[in-house]
Amino acid sequence: MSEQWIPDQITSYINGEWVAPSSLAERIPVLFPGDGRQISELIEADAVEVDQAVQAASDVFASGAWSGASIQDRKAVLLRIRDGILAHRDELARLEVMHTGSPITQARGRHIARTALNFEFFAEFISQVSNPVFDQNPDYLTYVRREPIGVAGLIAPWNAPLALASMKVAGAIAFGNSCVLKPSELTPLSFVPFLRILKDAGLPDGVVNLVNGRGPQTGAALVEHPGVRAVAFTGGTATGRQIGAGAGASLKKLVTELGGKSANIIFADADLDRALDAALVAIFSNNGQQCLAGSRILLQRSIAAEFRDKFVARTRRLNIGDPLSESTEIGPLISAEQRERVLNYARLAADSDGVEVLCGGSVPDQFESGYYFQPTVVAADKNSQPICQQEIFGPFATLLEFDNFDEAMAIANDTEFGLVSYLWSRDINTVMEASEALRAGMVWVNTPLTRELRAPFGGFKNSGVGRDGGEWSRALFTEEKTVTIPRRDFPIARFGVQ
Ligand code: NAD
Repeated sequence: MSEQWIPDQITSYINGEWVAPSSLAERIPVLFPGDGRQISELIEADAVEVDQAVQAASDVFASGAWSGASIQDRKAVLLRIRDGILAHRDELARLEVMHTGSPITQARGRHIARTALNFEFFAEFISQVSNPVFDQNPDYLTYVRREPIGVAGLIAPWNAPLALASMKVAGAIAFGNSCVLKPSELTPLSFVPFLRILKDAGLPDGVVNLVNGRGPQTGAALVEHPGVRAVAFTGGTATGRQIGAGAGASLKKLVTELGGKSANIIFADADLDRALDAALVAIFSNNGQQCLAGSRILLQRSIAAEFRDKFVARTRRLNIGDPLSESTEIGPLISAEQRERVLNYARLAADSDGVEVLCGGSVPDQFESGYYFQPTVVAADKNSQPICQQEIFGPFATLLEFDNFDEAMAIANDTEFGLVSYLWSRDINTVMEASEALRAGMVWVNTPLTRELRAPFGGFKNSGVGRDGGEWSRALFTEEKTVTIPRRDFPIARFGVQ
């Protein structure tokens, strides 16, 4: 069925072994978005298999093989995982391309680099971080321990499979937990070498287990499993609500990283050349399929016409093509459904009063197969247009204009989401005031996509609940225990001696 370097079939991975496929299990084809052909097959895990994975994670946790390992030993394993990822960078990147359609340069340079960095970051973090001690009370010394929660359920989306899943895996295991990971059913391929790298690095079997399958089948079984103590989820807002309900019913800790409709606000005094480069990166990276996409570009009216013309000219020149080619800037979308979704928004834009399609808006005709879509730019008269409100998740930029600071803030904040706001201005007062006024989890000033792993990452409003990143990942993946010890023999009330 497949090329030799692509795994033929992906099953669950439990306690360090690939599970033999059951004849009754659902088989889900894995497709190459570049031409739609089947390149592999996923064997769906049912609730019984999810239970086996959680049990394996639970058993190894109880054994102390990893949960009881010293920080020094855990750090060494995490750094060896980082090295393994970098050593297999090309294999991992090519597999990411084969199931996502992301351009190879971005898969290798951003996603795999980030995957390695996630492990390096948490290796360093656990060896540096400390816990509070309270010594104000003369009689007692109180200190806080952070202990692993046990088994974490990790659910990841398809748009950057390894980069996003590995942030959760690295965070969970760094603090001594075991975990069960469920990637998107569309993108299981790169997890095969990833798990081999974890094993080769010396991570004990059962610490990271994998289950594959669709959300309502495999994912829900994981979220609802009583043996799972915390759930880390990245994906769509509607799914986040369901997962929140499932995790809430069984009182699990939960962080959700959800959708976005981020404003990229460009003031007239900005460095417009840099803002132009960055606006293209912010919306067209990863084929526009990213939660952080700067999908609403807000232009101050005095520079709007010139900026728009340059933006459209550069968009027309984007190199669309085979995602495995080093020169490709835009590859195919993940699936036929996703392309249909983006196409429907393009049709809606074309049919809406007050919206003008400036370029793109349809399927390019040079490809006989694959889920390609033309990079699209539309201008909208007002932010209440559905294309300004709904997450499209494709190479689709919407331009809006504003006259002054207050109007820019009002448009930027007029959304159910609040993940990122991009902000371009050379004026420090504008930057400082906007950074306070914007209702978003991250404000990126005069820069495109910039992730600082030490800092909290997550969204306001419907972009999610909770944060990840250094301290915030620790909050999810550990329990706090407060220990109080007397500093001297202080008097204790003596009951029963009257
Ligand atoms: P999705 O919500 O459809 O699926 C995400 C994951 O959840 C998949 O593994 C899926 O199988 C699983 N799932 C679906 N239903 C489930 C259920 N009922 N119970 C348990 N698991 C379930 O999202 P997607 O289409 O894979 O990804 C795109 C979305 O992810 C976009 O909305 C995007 O903005 C968002 N995203 C957010 C971030 C962030 O950090 N905020 C990052 C990347 C993507």
